[in-house]
Amino acid sequence: ALVEKTEITVDDKGLTNPGPLDAKEKLGRELLCVVRALLKKIKRRVMVGDKVLVSGIDWVDGRGMIEEVFDRETEIFDPPVANVDQLLVLAALDRPRPEPLSLSRFLVEAESTGIPFTVVFNKTDLVSSKDVSDWESRLSSWGYKPLFCSAASKLGISPLVDILANKTSAIIGLSGVGKSSVINALCDEAGLELWNSSCEEDPVNVVKDESVWSGVYEEQTVGEVSERTGRGKHTTRHVSLLKLPSAGYLVDTPGFNQPNLARVSTKSLPLLFPEIKSKLNEATCAFGDCLHVGEPDCAVGGDWDRYEHYLQLLEEVKKRGQLE
Ligand code: GDP
Ligand code: ZN
Repeated sequence: ALVEKTEITVDDKGLTNPGPLDAKEKLGRELLCVVRALLKKIKRRVMVGDKVLVSGIDWVDGRGMIEEVFDRETEIFDPPVANVDQLLVLAALDRPRPEPLSLSRFLVEAESTGIPFTVVFNKTDLVSSKDVSDWESRLSSWGYKPLFCSAASKLGISPLVDILANKTSAIIGLSGVGKSSVINALCDEAGLELWNSSCEEDPVNVVKDESVWSGVYEEQTVGEVSERTGRGKHTTRHVSLLKLPSAGYLVDTPGFNQPNLARVSTKSLPLLFPEIKSKLNEATCAFGDCLHVGEPDCAVGGDWDRYEHYLQLLEEVKKRGQLE
């Protein structure tokens, strides 16, 4: 049923070249797939970035059926993407000015995914070089080595191209910091191409070979109430993968919410701060379950820049724990 109501999007080659294809020709072709009923039954959702087994491939029409979803290396949920192996935490140096606590929230969220990440400050063109070096040393005291760029002037964009090579990366950051602009600048710099478009219900899949795809789907969220029907109208949110010339992918998604620290507990929070981790490498707190909030003989103490952030986020996580 999905096939019938879905517009087919295959590349031009797929529709104009109906002859038998060799393995090389199959590489990189897009397939529109239905998901096997059994997978839906066991609530195995297909996410963008999933590796899947596809059967019954019709190369002429560009159709197939997803038989199986392979175990994910990583999962992120905002945006929903599987198998991301690198995050770029993007902030702006101005418009909006960095808000340290909000930055910490993103850093803690990124730490909690277990996925390696790099902090990138955008909009260097709007600030002085002193501002840049101030943020550089501040982040360094937090345990990070940030990169700096300007999507507007293109300065610092080419090092990002190198970082993205051979990986599947997602850029996270508050809206307005310049995610789309940086992606566009990267496209100009590296010649990225948008891989795929859309689908109505579950996923449209991009097949790299007969067993693996990376793809795009539209997450349907209930948006404004449609005037005509008076019922909830679906607004769609694309999650798409940009294909990098150097065999990697970049997740392109509009908007991003404040991270909700869903995977963080009061117990895990301290270790998501590099400052605490390094202090605990050198000394041990008197209490094994020390939360580092003023207990006697605490090895962490309160004499560090982000201590207030730690306390604030600890409260948030505690409160959420009590609600659950
Ligand atoms: P997103 O919401 O994170 O995707 O942010 P956008 O890419 O839409 O950018 C938000 C605003 O910041 C837009 O008006 C951009 O033109 C502007 N912007 C993005 N990058 C830069 C930059 O490097 N320098 C300057 N001056 N403005 C930028
Ligand atoms: Zn302690």
